[in-house]
Amino acid sequence: MALVVQKYGGTSVGTVERIKNVAKKVMAAKQRGNEVVVVVSAMAGETNRLLALAQQISELPDERERDVLLASGEQVSSSLLSLAIKDLGQPARSFLGHQVRIETDKAYGKARIKSIDSTRIKRALKAGEIVVVAGFQGVDEEDNITTLGRGGSDTSAVAMAAALQANVCEIYTDVEGVFTTDPGICPKARKLDRISYEEMIEMASTGAKVLQIRSVELAKNFAVPVHVRSSFSEAEGTWVIEEDKSMDSVLVSGVTYDKDEAKITLLKVPDRPGLAAQIFSPIAEAHIVVDMIIQNASEDGTTDLTFTVSKADYKKAISLVEKTASAIQAKGIKVDPNIAKVSIVGVGMRTHAGVAAKMFRVLAREGINIEMISTSEIKISVVIGEKQMERAVRVLHEEFIEKQGNL
Ligand code: ADP
Ligand code: ASP
Ligand code: MG
Repeated sequence: MALVVQKYGGTSVGTVERIKNVAKKVMAAKQRGNEVVVVVSAMAGETNRLLALAQQISELPDERERDVLLASGEQVSSSLLSLAIKDLGQPARSFLGHQVRIETDKAYGKARIKSIDSTRIKRALKAGEIVVVAGFQGVDEEDNITTLGRGGSDTSAVAMAAALQANVCEIYTDVEGVFTTDPGICPKARKLDRISYEEMIEMASTGAKVLQIRSVELAKNFAVPVHVRSSFSEAEGTWVIEEDKSMDSVLVSGVTYDKDEAKITLLKVPDRPGLAAQIFSPIAEAHIVVDMIIQNASEDGTTDLTFTVSKADYKKAISLVEKTASAIQAKGIKVDPNIAKVSIVGVGMRTHAGVAAKMFRVLAREGINIEMISTSEIKISVVIGEKQMERAVRVLHEEFIEKQGNL
């Protein structure tokens, strides 16, 4: 008997009707002879609504209490789905993160799963029940409720699939799979049949929010095959799997964008050993992830240092950097939240030169100014003005994907 983990995102459980539809799909998987564990997100819009409530009370809400609040969204959807399944005559049982001991570290709002105790889940499966687990949440070692970051139910699902050694982790969402770029902003985007874990990690980390990055890292580490597909159709979606030879013939697999970053510049930082460490240590201690960093060449013994963080961490980062700036006698700080990062991703870049040059040419032709650049073996990212983002995505998609990527 196969064990299937299915995850349904917010849109898929956004209304009572849709929850009933999901119950039918889950039931069908069970009737095909599988054991089924379902992981659910909060109903569409609910996490944002809860977040806004907290922010009405406090501009920077206490992180522990915010996580208690946010986790409630998944409590509602998991119980409703379990009810809907039972209503079809099929035994089901919902579990919250603490009930199946999804233990995480203490990083509220972006906790990482350390372990899952699958005893109760296995018992329920053995009794013929469908198990419904609330996504996005866990508890730390002292039983404080934690959440896994936006999109975190994907990670709950993959972690569950790894813990239970499931045959597949199906991620049901509102699009038919992973596309060459966000179909929401580029009508010419097309569905990929397969994508390697590595490319998907780069796509997720550069903004393709169809899968949370951590979920793909986990899938790669535990060799969990992930099938991203639509909850509104039966069509085959995209398989996220180990890379094989045929994949590097494609130069660029995807174009991504991320509007969720902000840029912070420290002006005239004295050019002395140890200062970068002094600037970034408090930021790291606050669990703030820094994405790109640029340090300009030093003139007159000082240098400008620019970096990006997510908009969610932006205010906290500024307050930390302000303290450091005055301690190290930098001239001041400059901030810009109106930026976007646009990236191209593909394993084919490993074996082809000239991809970056072509990307810069295409953007130059469009008169789009590049503010920052970063690369990895299979990715090139640029920071540009937010207003030019959609145009940049479309022209890069046209040049690298629609025209089959000739250099
Ligand atoms: P869910 O609520 O099911 O978790 P998300 O909103 O988190 O769904 O992710 C699905 C959305 O991701 C799609 O509606 C789409 O707009 C967006 N998206 C961004 N980039 C891509 C991509 N390359 N392929 C597919 N979807 C993408
Ligand atoms: N409900 C959470 C969010 O909106 C988690 C998820 O949907 O994956 O980010
Ligand atoms: Mg999601």
